[in-house]
Amino acid sequence: MPRTTTWVTVPEASDFPITNLPYGICCVKEACRTDGDGGRRRIGVAIGDQILDLSAVAARGLIDEPSQMLRAESLNEFLASGRSEWDRVRTRITELLSENSYRGAVEKMLIAQSDAELCLPFEVADYVDFYASIDHASNVGALFRPDSPALPPNWRHLPIGYHGRAGTVVVSGSEVVRPSGQRKPPEAEAPTYGPSQRLDIEAEVGFVVGTPSVRGTQVGIGDVAEHVFGVVLVNDWSARDIQAWEYVPLGPFLGKSFATTISPWVVPLAALKAARVAGPAQDPQPLPYLRRAEDWGLDLDIEVECNGTVVSRPPFRSMYWTADQQLAHLTVNGASLRTGDLFASGTVSGPDPGQRGSFLELSWSGRDPITLDDGSTRTFLEDGDTVTLRASAPGLDGTRIGFGACTGTVRPAVTD
Ligand code: MN
Repeated sequence: MPRTTTWVTVPEASDFPITNLPYGICCVKEACRTDGDGGRRRIGVAIGDQILDLSAVAARGLIDEPSQMLRAESLNEFLASGRSEWDRVRTRITELLSENSYRGAVEKMLIAQSDAELCLPFEVADYVDFYASIDHASNVGALFRPDSPALPPNWRHLPIGYHGRAGTVVVSGSEVVRPSGQRKPPEAEAPTYGPSQRLDIEAEVGFVVGTPSVRGTQVGIGDVAEHVFGVVLVNDWSARDIQAWEYVPLGPFLGKSFATTISPWVVPLAALKAARVAGPAQDPQPLPYLRRAEDWGLDLDIEVECNGTVVSRPPFRSMYWTADQQLAHLTVNGASLRTGDLFASGTVSGPDPGQRGSFLELSWSGRDPITLDDGSTRTFLEDGDTVTLRASAPGLDGTRIGFGACTGTVRPAVTD
């Protein structure tokens, strides 16, 4: 049975009870350092308002660590170590934080989250983004292609995706500079160049690959838990005007590659066992390689906040294509997985207007402005706007777990 008590004081409604134990990379903020070592990046595990310094735990020999993978400056080596190591390390951390006999030794290895700076948790290898919400795909189809059926003919047969830009995946808190580029409204005769006037977000959930696969082989639909280590929140910033002009026929390019923000904490799949639900029924039944063997829907409640106002509550459980199907699809041609691959769900939108995961949908392409708590209105994002994603899910033993904030602030376009 999982232990649900800890000697660490965990505030009520914390994202990080002992049933969560997500991994990140942190260093101590300059002003809070008490020794020369504080600036070093190290692996941390969130518990309540604290972070357990895993490099200190490993250095003290409180956890077996054959290859010093827990003393690395990114999670990649640990991610590559595979399911049995992930489970062993999690079990040991749970012991250290729940058994009072360890308190004296381990308490000194806690860093207050307020004293810590969180870094990108892993080196992102390849980044793939899907399009798995039927409500989002229908809304975007209606807005971008009003004269065609909302769903493209392939949509119910395969999880549509594109390869994104791994090098511009940034950690929560990183600023996002408004992109410039070409845009051409349908009524204009020629394109113009300038800062995007339709800067948007996409509220998504991302899956982090640990165990790689060999090129020329396929990852079967039943093997997701062997390859996927955990889950992050993703904001796939999107410049709709640049996107609309460039995307035919090869898909998203500069309208999305300027920045993708992820949450700093990677929540292990092991912490999400109680959140697993059946995905929605699929019609028609997909081809055999995409037929679900287990429940890989996740019961996550997402919240999208703009400058402190909650503007949407997208439900992840309604996503039509689930992570197991996405992983099977992205390797069905023999493409290999690398440690640090990130594949994101696509914008999470539910059927109700208050559940839409982008401003494109919330404002219906600018037709219906949204009013924020300060009385101002938005269709798309303005310079200075801060967007924060949060999510919570059922944890083990009746707890609730969260992901921390996935936040970013829009800075003005760079002008010459
Ligand atoms: Mn996206």
